[in-house]
Amino acid sequence: MITRSVATVDSLTWQEQLATSIRDPKQLLNMLGLDTSLLDGALNAHEDFPLRVPLPYLQRIAKGDPNDPLLRQVLPLGSELLAAPGYSDDPLDEQNSNPVPGLVHKYHGRVLLIVSPNCAINCRYCFRRHFPYQGNKPGRSEWQHALDYIANDSSIREVIYSGGDPLATSDKQLQWLTEQVASIKHVQRLRVHTRLPIVIPNRITDSCLQWLTSTRLIPSMVIHSNHPNELDKEVANALYRLKRAGVTLLNQTVLLSGINDTLSALQQLSERLFEVGVLPYYLHQLDRINGAAHFEVTDLRAKQLIAELTAALPGYLVPKLVREIPSANSKVLIL
Ligand SMILES: *Cc1c(COP(=O)(O)O)cnc(C)c1O
Ligand code: SF4
Repeated sequence: MITRSVATVDSLTWQEQLATSIRDPKQLLNMLGLDTSLLDGALNAHEDFPLRVPLPYLQRIAKGDPNDPLLRQVLPLGSELLAAPGYSDDPLDEQNSNPVPGLVHKYHGRVLLIVSPNCAINCRYCFRRHFPYQGNKPGRSEWQHALDYIANDSSIREVIYSGGDPLATSDKQLQWLTEQVASIKHVQRLRVHTRLPIVIPNRITDSCLQWLTSTRLIPSMVIHSNHPNELDKEVANALYRLKRAGVTLLNQTVLLSGINDTLSALQQLSERLFEVGVLPYYLHQLDRINGAAHFEVTDLRAKQLIAELTAALPGYLVPKLVREIPSANSKVLIL
């Protein structure tokens, strides 16, 4: 019983699409015609990390299939609550690379700015599901400390907007922030890591393109897509607008058991990405965050998949298989 027609959903503004997200596990199961035996587990895991899925994403989920690769990314499961050896609440040790609130400086030449603690969607595998965002609330006065930090370190050439999801913030705020970053002479590049063009493609408004491309900073965007079914016509249109405005588009994927750990899913993802103007960048091994153990794919299987992809596709469509290791000075290639 999806109450809004497809046409109605797509004609809402991005703010309306954010506000009408599904947040009730029972409603989600009803709308998708799924068995209520999933409900108890969903409610328990939802208490730990709430369900959140906007209607444009929901539209791409098949009805009646508990194994749909998009559903599995958003449906809370009871198994998330089982403790797993090697899993923790801060596997990346980011709380120790947080020199000022809202800024993570781990790698040479680039910093992550936590622009927004909010996301449009809650991904069950998310490595930030336990990040202490309370001390990382954004706003001009908080950003000012981060901007001062960037201005005082001339080795920083690239500022990366991250989150949460940076595009959950208003264009007005992002315009202000980007002008401040652009006024720091040694910063050359602006990168936005976001899942919003996938989840709510209407987010790519004219005013979004405006702040992103109107400064001297060289803009790029890393979208986070995990499956070819996520890249429908509306998403393709949003990406086309970004590309036409001169934004370099890259994708990173998290390798997820039962979602994209097959040659056919990864091959179709790379081919569809290229079709919509995006190059594959990283294929991430999962961060070992509590609640995500059931998504893990072994390194052996991951390397096998990369070998199969390499045999099937041109080199530029094969992402780099990497893992994040707290003490390393870059993402670590898995060879
Ligand atoms: C992933 C990440 C980056 C960006 O790494 P690239 O290899 O440049 O894509 C920067 N800072 C932090 C803290 C990161 O986790
Ligand atoms: S959009 Fe990114 S940060 Fe937000 S929940 Fe999903 S994976 Fe996590």
